[in-house]
Amino acid sequence: MIPIKNEKDLEMLKAAGKILAKIMQRLQECICVGISTGEIDELSEDLVRRENVISAFKGYRGFPANICTSINEEIVHGIPGERRLKSGDIISLDLGINYEGYFSDAAITVAVGRVNSKIKKLIKVTKSALSEGIKQARANNYLSNISYAIGSYVERHRFSVVRQFVGHGIGCSLHEEPEIPNFGRAGQGPILMPGMVLAIEPMVNMGKWESEILDNGWTAVTKDGMPSAHFEHTIAITEDGPQILTA
Ligand code: MG
Repeated sequence: MIPIKNEKDLEMLKAAGKILAKIMQRLQECICVGISTGEIDELSEDLVRRENVISAFKGYRGFPANICTSINEEIVHGIPGERRLKSGDIISLDLGINYEGYFSDAAITVAVGRVNSKIKKLIKVTKSALSEGIKQARANNYLSNISYAIGSYVERHRFSVVRQFVGHGIGCSLHEEPEIPNFGRAGQGPILMPGMVLAIEPMVNMGKWESEILDNGWTAVTKDGMPSAHFEHTIAITEDGPQILTA
């Protein structure tokens, strides 16, 4: 069952989304050559505390940090630490928050210093793939039309989508039904209805789609070592179309 949120839930989720958007904006502004991922985590902790919310990731199945920081070939679930950003790197920042029992989840990929044109294209295509998916998040549409829109857009641009991780419903917990793959056929699965809240999150590889998990048990990397980008928004399905809560 995909939970349908009532008016009060939606108001709370909008607030949770707005707070997260503000935090992500601040984090994006702090990305620069020389900052360490541990420092980004400290900044996230500070921002989250100032907004009186809780990181939904810290302690989640034992995840040790507030935020996921994934560099270059790291796809998702990178663990912050000593590593410092260099010019030419890309970093994906993924953060979920809990605002009085209501969750929002968002991710962005940011270029560090000067990156080459193919990396710029990877970031642009991933961000646009998310927009393509969101356009399909309409009442009375099939869930899998979101997946198809993302996957086909990415493939048209000669990149590949990660299979191992998917988007998800969100609301009173971080992960709810349904799962939202970033690939697949159109016209399948449940019908979307007003009041559904979804975290849509394409992860796009410059090379092949295959991924693996590092020995730390968390960090997913591309098998071919090529870079990967990730964008995510929490959105609500309304009578008037998709509403991006984390914008
Ligand atoms: Mg997510």
